[in-house]
Amino acid sequence: MSAQPEHRQNVRRVVLPSGKAIDVVYYDGRPGCAAPRPELHVCGSCGSELVYPLDWQEAGSVHWQVTLRCPNCEWAGTGVFEQPDVERFDQELDRGTAALVRDLKRLVRANMEEQVERFAQALRDDHIVPDDF
Ligand SMILES: [Zn+2]
Repeated sequence: MSAQPEHRQNVRRVVLPSGKAIDVVYYDGRPGCAAPRPELHVCGSCGSELVYPLDWQEAGSVHWQVTLRCPNCEWAGTGVFEQPDVERFDQELDRGTAALVRDLKRLVRANMEEQVERFAQALRDDHIVPDDF
């Protein structure tokens, strides 16, 4: 029992709905292999990819303590994560924001097209006269 392989250890603190916090420890016992990195935007409870941060603060020079929430199943938890994982999370959030903005622009354009069409139809039907302005 002397040649213990080096274990990488990740701790994720999960706050249960009761308010009790538990530390979930993940081990990676394969030296030389890249540890599977935590995907902070993925809910560990329901698998939703819409997890977002409620709060975050620096925890040392290369770690962040982040409080997460899943809007799908209401899971919430606080964990300490390494800088690269938080950076990937940040990029994922940027991608999500960009997708939302794209959808919003499409929606606005569709609404405007509908309004323009209705306005044109009203003009054609003589429902709009100079007195309207
Ligand atoms: Zn969830």
